[in-house]
Amino acid sequence: MRRGMISAALVLVLFGALVPASAGGPTPAKAGEPAPAKAGGLAKTPALPGPAASDEGMYPLSELKKLDLRSKGLAIDPEDIFAPDRPSLIFAIVSVGATGSFVSGDGLFVTNHHVAFGAVQAASTTQHDYLTNGFLARTRGEEIQAKGMTARITETFQDVSREVLSAVTPNLALADRTKAIEKRMKEIVADAEKKNPGKRAEVSEMFIGKTYVLFLYTYLKDIRIVYVPPRSIGEFGGETDNWMWPRHTGDFSFLRAYVGPDGSPADFGPKNVPFKPKRFLKVNPAGVKEGDFMFLLGYPGRTFRHYTASYLAYEESLRMPYVAEWYGWQIALMEKMGEKDAGVALALASRIKGLANAMKNYQGKLKGMKKIGIVDRKKAEERDLQKYIEADAKRRAAFGDVLAGIDKVYAENRVRAEYEMVLEYLRSSVNLFNFGWTAFEAAAELKKPDLERDAAYMDRNWAQTKQRLQLAQRNYHEPTDKAIFKELLLRALRLKGSFRIKAVDDLFKADASENAVDAYIAKAYAASKLATEPALTDLLKKTPDEIRSAKDPFVELAAALYPAYQELKEAQKARKGALDTLFARLSDAKEAFLGKNFIPDANGTLRLTYGRIKGYSPADAVYYKPFTTLAGVLDKTTGQPPFNTPSKLFDLYKARDFGRFAHPDLKDVPVCMLYDADTTGGNSGSPVLNAQGELVGVNFDRTYDATINDYAWSEDYSRSIAVDIRYVLWVTQKFGGAGFLLEEMGIR
Ligand code: ASP
Repeated sequence: MRRGMISAALVLVLFGALVPASAGGPTPAKAGEPAPAKAGGLAKTPALPGPAASDEGMYPLSELKKLDLRSKGLAIDPEDIFAPDRPSLIFAIVSVGATGSFVSGDGLFVTNHHVAFGAVQAASTTQHDYLTNGFLARTRGEEIQAKGMTARITETFQDVSREVLSAVTPNLALADRTKAIEKRMKEIVADAEKKNPGKRAEVSEMFIGKTYVLFLYTYLKDIRIVYVPPRSIGEFGGETDNWMWPRHTGDFSFLRAYVGPDGSPADFGPKNVPFKPKRFLKVNPAGVKEGDFMFLLGYPGRTFRHYTASYLAYEESLRMPYVAEWYGWQIALMEKMGEKDAGVALALASRIKGLANAMKNYQGKLKGMKKIGIVDRKKAEERDLQKYIEADAKRRAAFGDVLAGIDKVYAENRVRAEYEMVLEYLRSSVNLFNFGWTAFEAAAELKKPDLERDAAYMDRNWAQTKQRLQLAQRNYHEPTDKAIFKELLLRALRLKGSFRIKAVDDLFKADASENAVDAYIAKAYAASKLATEPALTDLLKKTPDEIRSAKDPFVELAAALYPAYQELKEAQKARKGALDTLFARLSDAKEAFLGKNFIPDANGTLRLTYGRIKGYSPADAVYYKPFTTLAGVLDKTTGQPPFNTPSKLFDLYKARDFGRFAHPDLKDVPVCMLYDADTTGGNSGSPVLNAQGELVGVNFDRTYDATINDYAWSEDYSRSIAVDIRYVLWVTQKFGGAGFLLEEMGIR
């Protein structure tokens, strides 16, 4: 590609998901001009026969009508995917933090092993270690509570942008602007929940500062574990294989949602009955083959495709390296702590997994960003946009300052970043301080009217907040907590100039040596009662006066740090206030420049994406085929975790006991598969559906090259990974001995 010229294809990638530009956009690359550069030298994937099905885009329900999915390969009526007045496929999709999908009329749903991991850990002890050995409930009565899990089903949605933005009055200070919007969103939610008893409402920001949608959800609170394979299958390959291909992980689990005897959502209880979903997925045990059309429904968390070069540069050079380093530090600590004690290893397993998953994702993204030179590309794109803006006086007046304004916000953010991260991690990574902080903040928040409280303390969320603390308390390990606290205090003591943290300085006024930090920590942990259940529960009920007189060292620290956290909150709200207006205008400018129909970045709401079952070429002379097989599992097996495999799997393989689940060409059970749909974190557990809308796989990951999806999607490198339905069913039936679940799914 010639310097200074942006190809149309590249514009699509960089400007975010965009339906092909119409009039007003930049001149597309002409025939005969050099093809657009491939992402960082990733080789072009050989073309597949059939309709070109793949495209960037995590489409919200409101945009589905604009998609001609039939021409891409869909064989069913698109209204069967979503029509508000029909029991369409979307009613089979649940948000469980990540995603799951109903596969029976009795509330049975499938998601990933890693999605249920925390709940399985919480149900495990060293005597009954379901994480290591797996778990199967042979009867409904044996199903165990998935603590901390809830499930939401999208029922309706409605654009409320005007209502939300009408809360903004002229001359509001930036932080107040954010507060006014937040308050209005809470009012809309409260009103919707009042009008729809039993439903959960959420207002989600779609385009930053510009569009807002009210979603109504059925909200299920009694979730139980039905079947999880042992960790040696569900997490086969562990962190070594995470974000990698070829992959051989049986990353699935079955859970069941329950409701009260009257059919309405209820907390966990013995009289509850299985939930009857409006729709469940038909499971197709024949799976898919290379080149087939596929689509996927799920709840992708966040993407940043509409963000600017200054944001990406901030992420690349500052925030992500810091976070990856900090997570790596904690993982090394926790692994060491668990080395000699299985109980400690179990208690820390879920945290280690979460940290390691994010750390490797960040490393992959950082590598990808450099490889495709994303910051420079975005800069070039922004120069073109600026030129377009400058070319017309009206446009200049409307948008001339937008990009510079955003750059300024991120420049200011950079200066504060380390200070803010140390403060945030103190509060989130140190268990006892997290408990003390929450108790202290709760006392202040709970006395306010409900709608004025921070979200975690509102009546609708408070029970969950408390449950989160209780689960953290179960996994509490004092030596680990102390070491993390010490490291963060030392980091705080190294902050410079105006970003010193006064409350921390005050603690070590006389002596800021490591010994003094050790002595303070030893004293604080000896004096605090927050590690014990009754003390914490008791503290969470106190008034501001009572809590101060409790004299817990971590509550005292919370009180001392309160002004710093208040300032942090204000600064974050002011930043959001500034970016809201700037991004809303940027979006208008881009619409004018490129034509309309952007797709909003992922934001945890229900989306559809589609593509084809397809391999790719990650490097020169290397081609990744789209299926792995059971033979590959056995090849990779070393006998040592994470590459240990239960001997029963070997026996079944030797006997070639594949049942009906062998791939016709591979003559083996397919384990995982690749496709080029547009996914991100949160799509874990998303059903992979064939052209008929039948379940053929369970999405769980992306390849290392595709970690950069959050910033840019490309047909060349964006590949997601699912566990093939044939492996799910084969393991469940042949290995797990749970053929009755297949029967429940209608597979005989
Ligand atoms: N593994 C991811 C998740 O946990 C899925 C992804 O990021 O592609 O949601």
